[in-house]
Amino acid sequence: SQRIKIKALLTGELTGKEVTVKGWVRAFRQNRFIALNDGSTNNNIQIVVDFENTDPALLKRITFGSAISVVGEMVPSLGSGQKVEVNAKTIEILGDCNPEEFPLQPKKQSLEFLRENAHLRFRTSTFGSIFRLRNTLAFAVHKFFNDRGFVYLHTPIITASDAEGAGEMFRVTTFDPTKPPLTDTGEVDFKQDFFGKATNLTVSGQLEGELGAMALSDIYTFGPTFRAENSNTTRHLAEFWMIEPEMAFYDLNDNMDLAEEMLKYLIGYALEHNREDIEFLTQRLLEEEKQKPQAERSEMTLLEKLQFCLDNDFQRLTYTEAIEILKDSNHNKKKKFQYLIEGWGADLQSEHERYLVEKHFKKPVILTDYPKDIKSFYMRLNEDGKTVRAMDILFPGIGEIIGGSQREERYDKLTQRMDEMGVPKDELWWYLDTRRFGACEHAGFGLGFERLVLFVTGMGNIRDVIPFPRAPKTAEF
Ligand code: ATP
Ligand code: MG
Ligand code: MG
Ligand code: MG
Repeated sequence: SQRIKIKALLTGELTGKEVTVKGWVRAFRQNRFIALNDGSTNNNIQIVVDFENTDPALLKRITFGSAISVVGEMVPSLGSGQKVEVNAKTIEILGDCNPEEFPLQPKKQSLEFLRENAHLRFRTSTFGSIFRLRNTLAFAVHKFFNDRGFVYLHTPIITASDAEGAGEMFRVTTFDPTKPPLTDTGEVDFKQDFFGKATNLTVSGQLEGELGAMALSDIYTFGPTFRAENSNTTRHLAEFWMIEPEMAFYDLNDNMDLAEEMLKYLIGYALEHNREDIEFLTQRLLEEEKQKPQAERSEMTLLEKLQFCLDNDFQRLTYTEAIEILKDSNHNKKKKFQYLIEGWGADLQSEHERYLVEKHFKKPVILTDYPKDIKSFYMRLNEDGKTVRAMDILFPGIGEIIGGSQREERYDKLTQRMDEMGVPKDELWWYLDTRRFGACEHAGFGLGFERLVLFVTGMGNIRDVIPFPRAPKTAEF
């Protein structure tokens, strides 16, 4: 008979039938009960072993982590922990797992340990839940946009455009050590790297995405993004995935509406399709919180936090209004400088963002109309000449999850900003053409996929929500 996944077996529909099940041993008690897992769910299927009629040499090889195949009959369980179980007829060892050498233990492992053994962490329930959720969210992204008629557009990964340097870039070099592309003085000539052009790994697909939006109306990208972040935060990776929709005939309000609708849809989709995983992670967090002093524990569980996000409008306010609140908070706190802000014009630090979201409004916040000097050249200038139609969406426990804007579609205004900010117009001639030929109002944003997964899983470190983290000191992959 064909292998059935454990998630399907646990529904009990096959009771009375002979089944084949394969997986990895999570526990083996009293030479009799195997808890078997195949990654389809965190719940194990119980295999009941007829130990009196089983070769003792084989029983010895059923250890934590070993891979086995079982043929047996699905029966209602006599135990209290599960509805059904499998009475084993034959057990085959597919792969031994020497407990003396296997780094994982049946007990709970610390996240630090699992980060150091990242190649094995897939085998734990926590990471099983995280990566199933990550998969569901990625699928939901495509579903959300395709249901709304957006075209999935692949933008280049090796590119000459640096999207105005959203972060430090990784240079792409063709490197033949026997004949590196050299200048007259013998240095590596990066200008020759990509068939005569200097190139880097993409930091954003936005500028290319705008080309698509100017003809297809609504597009989105969803691809790997690279930034040589030389910091060690819990929110930054050197390689992350970004979702960047770009819409023609959208203003900033339309942009905010779409972003809020999308975030709620994605969270709702995960709640509906992976509730079991979210409940598992909620429980895990509750246990973690028990270690903390009462005052530091969060008021809501993960499940409640996600539901709260669905049920409430995001708070929308301008940067200028936010500065007033921050100044006020600083004043009220009698100059405890924790939330000190330099004043209008300064970029918000993450502690300011967290204050607004977690202490002041206690809900997701959309901040708009930032000073032009701290934002990119392509954002549309407001009538005041000082602010631009930018929006940052800030989430509790995460900080910035989305950055976006209405784009500057007026050729003269755009080129003026490029001159002011030293953005080379000649290199972006193709981008400027969108403003010369049939320009129209348009907008878009970038959602950091891992920050979304962080929020939905309640994890604390972005390295724990991507299968193969690429960041300083993660050289093994
Ligand atoms: P931050 O202020 O957190 O550094 P940013 O303003 O530099 O982010 P944007 O250029 O606005 O980032 O990119 C859009 C989104 O991509 C961000 O809102 C965030 O969700 C995500 N993002 C940016 N940098 C990283 C990174 N290094 N690792 C993971 N996600 C990132
Ligand atoms: Mg950044
Ligand atoms: Mg930012
Ligand atoms: Mg940003």
